[in-house]
Amino acid sequence: MKILISADMEGATGVTWPADCLPGTPQWERHRVMFTSDVNAAIAGFFDGGADEVLVNEAHMTMRNLLLEQLDDRATMLTGRHKALSMVEGVQHGDADGIAFVGYHTGAGDEGVLAHTYLGNSITGVFVDGVRASEGLLNALVVAEYGTPVVLVTGDDRACADARGYAPDARTVAVKDYVSRYAA
Ligand SMILES: [Zn+2]
Repeated sequence: MKILISADMEGATGVTWPADCLPGTPQWERHRVMFTSDVNAAIAGFFDGGADEVLVNEAHMTMRNLLLEQLDDRATMLTGRHKALSMVEGVQHGDADGIAFVGYHTGAGDEGVLAHTYLGNSITGVFVDGVRASEGLLNALVVAEYGTPVVLVTGDDRACADARGYAPDARTVAVKDYVSRYAA
């Protein structure tokens, strides 16, 4: 069983402020450790659950955030950008049995810690068939084209609630509870 992990950072443990996930800041240096830890928890869970291959696709901003030297060495990492399918690069090979959205967040215009859809200060709302779309929803539609189910979504409690709309069969894990856009 092969699992693909799409790892975004706004929904990671402890992240509540733009600088927490802005490459180059002291806050980012601190939070990328917790981000890596979230991804490692998912990797460990998948291997415990019977996976024999896990590919981690970096999906946040520069796509160079995870600490490779601290990553569970059973996993393989796809780092950097640009990539044809961006946050879900790798799914087009058609060999993944499931995909996990780790560190995800709600979409532009929704409640949620650091809610946005791709460009935080430019896009105020994305709609698919009249439904306000998060990156999770958009990427779930992309991976559905390849027949790959979303099996896990982590983020704040609002991101988990959002996931129940686009991936009702996925396991969700809230790593923080929303209080406001910049508090959890
Ligand atoms: Zn991100």
